[in-house]
Amino acid sequence: VSKPGVTVLASKISKIYVEEITSKVKAIQNIRPHGPLLVGFLANDDPAAEMYASWTKKTSEDMGFRYELRRIDEKDFLEEAIIEANRDPQVDGIMVYYPVFGNAQDQYLQQVVAKEKDVEGMNHVYYQNMYHNIRYLDSENTLKSILPCTPLAVVKILEYLKVYNNLLPQGNRLYGKKCVVVNRSEIVGRPLAALLANDGAVVYSVDIDNIQKFTRGEGLKFKKHHVEDLGAFSKDLLKQCCSEADVIITGVPSESYKFPTECIKEGAVCINFSSNKNFDETVKSKASLYVPMTGKVTISMLLRNMLRLIENSEKFKNP
Ligand code: NAD
Repeated sequence: VSKPGVTVLASKISKIYVEEITSKVKAIQNIRPHGPLLVGFLANDDPAAEMYASWTKKTSEDMGFRYELRRIDEKDFLEEAIIEANRDPQVDGIMVYYPVFGNAQDQYLQQVVAKEKDVEGMNHVYYQNMYHNIRYLDSENTLKSILPCTPLAVVKILEYLKVYNNLLPQGNRLYGKKCVVVNRSEIVGRPLAALLANDGAVVYSVDIDNIQKFTRGEGLKFKKHHVEDLGAFSKDLLKQCCSEADVIITGVPSESYKFPTECIKEGAVCINFSSNKNFDETVKSKASLYVPMTGKVTISMLLRNMLRLIENSEKFKNP
């Protein structure tokens, strides 16, 4: 008898967004006759960033965007180059391939990108809205806030896999679901845990030191998630959190790390966003649906964010 687990590829999931985005680019040809312009800044010699850049170029051009890679040989000139792109009315979106300095200066650079052009959704205003479960930028609820693209990609994957229950009201569609997120970086893991908890899930956020629980409380009584420390990381505590988990999401940046298959609840959904394979081949003996990589959906979210920024700026100009 064959195993019931099924692998779902990000390319298949991103297809629906590729169609949506391509037709939106066509629909705004009156204001962007040559396609919206995305500028990527590469200031490191990381071959992974180089590959991601060439892949962004191909994907965005296929959908009718223009993409320009700007290589910055001297890292200290990057800030000026970003400011110049912020001011240039030809540029619709800006992204930077990190790490650049590999320290807190990178967080500073994230805030240098104008929020009106921040396709990755890294601006503090967007982060704070997300953590506080505020979904619009204006009090009239006409300008949607932007979400960081990798956490957003995982949300869209969970929607595709029908973990989100669309019979429930929007904002509560993960009510009753338990999720584990292994990674608590400020780029992916912590915002992701917050997004899922804000949508109603109980989320166990695991990092190398400890495990935390993110929830909106009993009966979703809170408007935004609260965080509780569960204790130091141990395999026993992880096992306990996973025993009822409907979803397990991993993002450990290490080739040797493998999530323990024996901790996966039978029929759980497993998603890996790390560039390393965090699940070994036994995952499908437990998982119902398994998504081994998420990058293709992330890039769709990046381009979708860019269209939303253009839409917001048009609404702002002609309310
Ligand atoms: P990071 O180094 O900033 O964070 C790693 C996180 O994993 C930390 O919270 C750390 O505590 C945790 N961790 C490490 N080892 C662990 C262990 N053994 N057990 C539990 N937790 C552990 O990295 P990052 O920027 O979050 O990126 C993580 C991975 O995701 C990388 O492989 C990166 O390439 C990938 N990534 C993918 C996308 C995408 O779109 N698919 C986007 C961004 C990053």
